[in-house]
Amino acid sequence: MHLPDFDFYAPESVAEACELMTRYQDEARVINGGTDILPRMKNQVMAPAILVSIKRLPGMKRIEYIPGKGIVIGAGVTLNEIALSEVIESKYHSICHAAAHMAANQIRNIGTLGGNIVASIPSADMPPILIALGATAKIAGPTGERVMPLEDVFTGPGKTVLAKNEILTEVFVPDGKMTGSAYHKFALRRAGALAVVGVAVAVEIEKGVIKDARVVLGAVAPVPLRAVKVDAFLKGKPATDEVFAEAGEIAYDECRPITDFRASAEYRRELVKVYTKRCLKKVVTDGHKAVVGG
Ligand SMILES: Cc1cc2nc3c(=O)[nH]c(=O)nc-3n(C[C@H](O)[C@H](O)[C@H](O)COP(=O)(O)OP(=O)(O)OC[C@H]3O[C@@H](n4cnc5c(N)ncnc54)[C@H](O)[C@@H]3O)c2cc1C
Repeated sequence: MHLPDFDFYAPESVAEACELMTRYQDEARVINGGTDILPRMKNQVMAPAILVSIKRLPGMKRIEYIPGKGIVIGAGVTLNEIALSEVIESKYHSICHAAAHMAANQIRNIGTLGGNIVASIPSADMPPILIALGATAKIAGPTGERVMPLEDVFTGPGKTVLAKNEILTEVFVPDGKMTGSAYHKFALRRAGALAVVGVAVAVEIEKGVIKDARVVLGAVAPVPLRAVKVDAFLKGKPATDEVFAEAGEIAYDECRPITDFRASAEYRRELVKVYTKRCLKKVVTDGHKAVVGG
């Protein structure tokens, strides 16, 4: 399998990148790490005549904690840079854990956060935990920038709100009141396999009472699914095993999985039930350091 011919641009500013995308429209595609788009081109799923690399744009590799505000993660930051980031680890091990359990080392060395989001694969690992933590996305276009909740970026498998000439430049994870967070993925192999189910939770617990909760489910709907019924159920409840077991049952009902070659819909529902319960239980004791499974 060979790559089809294409022209390659490597602009050095966002304005230049947007101008190229505006000029070439459907003929052009952004390339970041290329771990998603290049295999698609090789498999003749797509054949853009022009690739616009965003690697040289300023700020794309930024990982920075802004005291009292939150963490900025540039869209060009690789998955391994996230997995190994001391800045992110000091606040949310859950984000590092999600990145560390994706793909294989080679892919994590070049695949980026931006690509993981904009490819909008329903089983993508980064969106659930970032959405659970209330992340926002910054999108740049020819007329300026817009910021929106990350959960609103996804519109369907392979589809986002980004226009052809827009670029995701960064993700912001705000400081919040959440006292714990966790992401757990079930895959058919330990390395290099997409999630059969991914469960992310973030909770605020005070004196044994759940003040706030955000549960996000991956690979069980066309886009990362906010389990709003679970969130509503948890608020105000005591942080007990019984409450978490009931939350798992509600998540079982709320998810919308399909059957495919990786798993049946029913099996996915069962996984959602069990991992929602386990993640919730773990964050009570381990806060943002919680690890569920390996
Ligand atoms: C063997 C293998 C294993 C994998 N395992 C996993 C896994 O376990 N979990 C998982 O979630 N994914 C997995 N993936 C998918 C992929 O590697 C990741 O989603 C990766 O993060 C994609 O990032 P990238 O920079 O390589 O994207 P690219 O291929 O560069 O881009 C992907 C898409 O997003 C667009 N794009 C990229 N960045 C931007 C931006 N900033 N603004 C606008 N558009 C943009 C591109 O135009 C393209 O359409 C795997 C892939 C392979 C090949």
